[in-house]
Amino acid sequence: MSLVTTPARHLATCPRCAGTKVTAITMTLHDGSCVDFSSCHTCEARSWRQGGQELDISTVLGKARKPRL
Ligand SMILES: [Zn+2]
Repeated sequence: MSLVTTPARHLATCPRCAGTKVTAITMTLHDGSCVDFSSCHTCEARSWRQGGQELDISTVLGKARKPRL
């Protein structure tokens, strides 16, 4: 068994399963707002947050009209 140590500042915790296999990225949307997107590899939960407040996916998609996903 091998363990990989990740720097603490890159660790994000899944709000659903509390797992740490989370990919978290910050994006700036077209309206200038900055949102944090996190995707959990354990339970596949995805969440969007802005300023610590969780956003609804439809709100995010309304702000960011990306040509491809
Ligand atoms: Zn999870």
